[in-house]
Amino acid sequence: MNRIELLAPAGDLERLKTAIRYGADAVYLGGKQFSLRSRASNFDLQEIKEGVEFANQYGAKIHVTVNIVPHDEDLTGLEEYLKQLEEIGVTAVIVASVTIMEIAKRVAPKLEVHVSTQQSSTNSAAVSFYESLGVNRVVLARECSMEQIEKIVKNSNVDIEAFIHGGMCVNYSGRCTLSNWMTGRDANRGGCAQSCRWKYHVYEGDDLISDPDCLFSMSSKDLLAAEYVWRMIHAGMTSLKIEGRMKSAYYIATVVKTYRMLIDECVKSPKGLSKECINYYTREFAKAENRPTGLGFLAGLPSEDTHLYGVNGAGVTHDFLAMVLDYDELNGQMKIEVRNRFEVGCCMEVFGPEVNNQCFIVEHMMDCEGNEVMLANKPTEILYCKVPFKVHKYDMIRRGKADENFI
Ligand code: SF4
Repeated sequence: MNRIELLAPAGDLERLKTAIRYGADAVYLGGKQFSLRSRASNFDLQEIKEGVEFANQYGAKIHVTVNIVPHDEDLTGLEEYLKQLEEIGVTAVIVASVTIMEIAKRVAPKLEVHVSTQQSSTNSAAVSFYESLGVNRVVLARECSMEQIEKIVKNSNVDIEAFIHGGMCVNYSGRCTLSNWMTGRDANRGGCAQSCRWKYHVYEGDDLISDPDCLFSMSSKDLLAAEYVWRMIHAGMTSLKIEGRMKSAYYIATVVKTYRMLIDECVKSPKGLSKECINYYTREFAKAENRPTGLGFLAGLPSEDTHLYGVNGAGVTHDFLAMVLDYDELNGQMKIEVRNRFEVGCCMEVFGPEVNNQCFIVEHMMDCEGNEVMLANKPTEILYCKVPFKVHKYDMIRRGKADENFI
């Protein structure tokens, strides 16, 4: 079985490096030009180059979204841009327009061309069509069920990628003009204002038909496909994709690390994972998630349970408290950068590429001048803290529960 790719998002270099350190095989990002998510902190060419060089050190790959739906005036400079991406060493461009697919194949033949989910590929014939254009991979629409995915993979001769985690559109991804109508911001040129998630009063004529105390929203639950990963791997898929170029480094670290462990365990398990095992990973994802999650379309057409009519989110279950900057093994002390408020006596849970959820109670902290600190409440402040096990630079610390993984 080929190693399946875990593909993570990144909105900047910090998040790109975090994703790769925490176990992503590839990272996708948007350039400053020709990309959706124009409001995400996209990369310029120098940053893409730095990202490629960093990825190369880990044997990871960089994919760049070139996924606008272009009008004639949007194509100026595209050929030069694609050639530059090829020269920098980018592995693939993710494209939503047959025009750009053709141009990429012609002017930058070393770049793989991946058909974006914006093309809503939901069947084998669509995948065959893109194959005839010479593309390397098709990213399936989020609106496919698991059975449909298995059938498409079986019938196709190109690589198949599908989403396993993150936000869902209430419309077919990329087929929505709600934001255009509501705000003048074009969702297909990177400007979506997520108008579906706003809260509305619903009227039929002059009659208010929605509950005045609970405003109506069209938001979907986020996708969490942990229980389908084993089937996806064994179906012969090439890549499993996490959504969220706007998400924080902490979110990326938590989700990527958890999928890394889940995928590695699936590969070793000939009969699939137990319910208890899936529950464990689901709890781990919940430490990053701040919105309710569901199975999207994987189990078939979504029911009412998949939508969020009244609420948009739930609270984060664990706070991101600090980042480890250094560790002094001799003194059992770590240097940390504060991200959220915590105090002596609180329970900390450390996780990182080489540390899996080890907890301890904070007994002593001091600042750079050696003054004892009882309360950390200044974001980015540097503190020193005793820790009863080995930690590493770039490990992350969140608020733990004293009865979990306790040291
Ligand atoms: S408004 Fe909502 S459904 Fe439409 S593109 Fe934006 S996120 Fe998707």
